[in-house]
Amino acid sequence: MAKNVRKRVRDAAESWLGKEKVVGPLEVLVGMNLLVFSSYQAWLKGLLRDLEVQIQGGPKLHAQVIRHFLEWVQEKGLEPIDSPYIAASRSGSKKLQVFEAGDEELEKFYTTRFAAPGAKERVQKKLEKKPDLVVMVSASRKERECVHCKTLIYKGTLFLMEDHGLVCLECADMDHLVFLPSGDAALTRRSRKYSALSAVVVEFSRSRGRHERQGILVTESALHQAEEECVKDADIRAELRERRRERVVKEDEVFARDMANALSVWYPNCPADEIESIAYHTTVRGSGRVGRSSSAKELERDALRLAVIAHIRHQHTNYDHLLMSGISREEARRRVREKVDKILLGWEAEE
Ligand SMILES: [Zn+2]
Repeated sequence: MAKNVRKRVRDAAESWLGKEKVVGPLEVLVGMNLLVFSSYQAWLKGLLRDLEVQIQGGPKLHAQVIRHFLEWVQEKGLEPIDSPYIAASRSGSKKLQVFEAGDEELEKFYTTRFAAPGAKERVQKKLEKKPDLVVMVSASRKERECVHCKTLIYKGTLFLMEDHGLVCLECADMDHLVFLPSGDAALTRRSRKYSALSAVVVEFSRSRGRHERQGILVTESALHQAEEECVKDADIRAELRERRRERVVKEDEVFARDMANALSVWYPNCPADEIESIAYHTTVRGSGRVGRSSSAKELERDALRLAVIAHIRHQHTNYDHLLMSGISREEARRRVREKVDKILLGWEAEE
């Protein structure tokens, strides 16, 4: 058995180092099937609080694994890399915790990874790359609720996983983002480049036992810019715009037109294309949103005002950048308030 453990540790470490150029105790545990790969991946994405219940094997086995691993590290002449495991959160990057207790020494031990001296610099740079914000698609048949607003999160709904529970996209202030499904690598890359706020969308696949990437969330203007860059041909660009327009179904069209009319009465100084954009987005965004809960005839001035404010925030201030940099929604709103008020006042009708 003892010899067997030594061989298993070495095989796991060797194979991981070969593929990833960096390896630590956790990766060895994965390679030895003492930690399920999908759990390790979910943890890396920040979807698990810690790995405590996920790691198999008693303390005696772990002590052996670690002894053999360090022996191997020394033999290979690998060097430690001092980069913690990090995942993205709305309040900035967070350091991932292996055990529930979070004992500093033990954490450091399990999270120190090793690389060959020649590869160290490159590996370190890669490990320190800012992680993606991860949004999940609810795969659960059971409805759950947002910890802030208690809105039900049905199967197929997008949400964020935060330490205290599930957060809906509206509470995360990410509901203005549009979903771009995986499949077009160039479009995905460009959209992310232009989007001040973006996230990766994953869904848990029961059959494959892991979280699978479905696409990304980006701002609509970033997607448009990326699309137009991807198609240089003018005819195709026109076709793209046509397809976009078709996304609004007939009854929504009437609603959007009524809304645009109401907006131009209350905000006569707002440029026409922006009126159209606000009406279009508020309509497309779906049910439960500003303006969608009542019929177009009953469009309330307050509801319209909220839609206009949201538009100004996202389009005329650095609000999305602030959110992306990990500043809280409240603080970000406070910082842009003055600018938003100024533009709003300029657009309003004088009474
Ligand atoms: Zn919510």
